[in-house]
Amino acid sequence: MTSLVVTDIGELTTHGPQGTLRDAALVVHNGRVAWIGPTAQAPAADRAIDAGNAAVIPGFVDSHAHLVFAGDRAGEFAARMAGEPYTGGGIRTTVAATRAATDDQLRASTARLIAEARRQGTTTIECKSGYGLTVEDEARCLRIAAEFTAETTYLGAHVVPDGADPDAYTRLVCGPMLDAARPYARWVDVFCERGAFDPDQSRAVLRAGIGAGLGARVHANQLSAGEGVRIAVELGAASADHCTHLSTSDIDLLAGSDTVATLLPGAEFSTRSPYPDARALLDAGATVALATDCNPGSSYTSSMPLCIALAVLQLRMTPAEALWSATAGGARALRRDDIGHLDVGARADLAILDAPSHLHLAYRPGVPLIRTVLLNGEPT
Ligand SMILES: [Zn+2]
Repeated sequence: MTSLVVTDIGELTTHGPQGTLRDAALVVHNGRVAWIGPTAQAPAADRAIDAGNAAVIPGFVDSHAHLVFAGDRAGEFAARMAGEPYTGGGIRTTVAATRAATDDQLRASTARLIAEARRQGTTTIECKSGYGLTVEDEARCLRIAAEFTAETTYLGAHVVPDGADPDAYTRLVCGPMLDAARPYARWVDVFCERGAFDPDQSRAVLRAGIGAGLGARVHANQLSAGEGVRIAVELGAASADHCTHLSTSDIDLLAGSDTVATLLPGAEFSTRSPYPDARALLDAGATVALATDCNPGSSYTSSMPLCIALAVLQLRMTPAEALWSATAGGARALRRDDIGHLDVGARADLAILDAPSHLHLAYRPGVPLIRTVLLNGEPT
């Protein structure tokens, strides 16, 4: 392995004990951060990149995305923009298209979305199943997801398929479908919501996944208040995602637990829905992550910079809080300590911005500010 030095970094956000460094340099060796300090003291390396006084940030950790699917739902989007509410029912449209697609078609569309995310600074992305909803199709979608990321999530409990009995389907999700998904999954997830899976069914799905050795995450309190957050905390889930309709006790539960509150403002933005109360969560001491929820129905964006802009401009997070949540927060939500920061020893996953400061990510919304991405120390 060769070494690489990035010099003339105007602002280096480490999210570690050294905080933010000016006029900094960073050395990569064997895919890891080997040294950080002033440019004037930087050791030599085999290769050099001059950052030209630009900002360097940890690569984004997108801890919630649904990338293995076929087709899109632009027509449903147009109808919603013409006044129809989002109900989640359109998931079935994507299920039909996904089942009809070949492996190569699913592989190509997943690769395209991951490349799109990478160009926008994402270096780790979680990927859920949930558009197969048969034993064979859930296993197939996870097998394809696992070709692209280690952070694969079994979401057989996304929605009850048309014509299926909810309790019988839940038993399938907890039994044969879990057995088929298990070799390709790190996590288990459930959409705990009216019209999807009720609290008892949600607990059963998560307990079965945990029993099979998977970590738990929950689609919680997205469209209405409910027990999703309580169940996530009770079962030690790594993350409760959405958290749009929270009670004071939900916020207290999250603040007193290791369960990360993952906010997905792209979903509210794309469905013209009220945003979650990020300030209440942060002020209570909860750990907050930001992710895209990239999916063809309610949030068809792969852009973490957009999520940061929304978090700052609509959720009232500070730019520093939003950057932390989109990197270190996502790493917490995936229970990873090797990503989301740029301390010595961390994976050398980072982005060089076309901007002098991370502030520009929210200050200049919609502008492509990712100049160079290093993944495991290699320019992509
Ligand atoms: Zn989701």
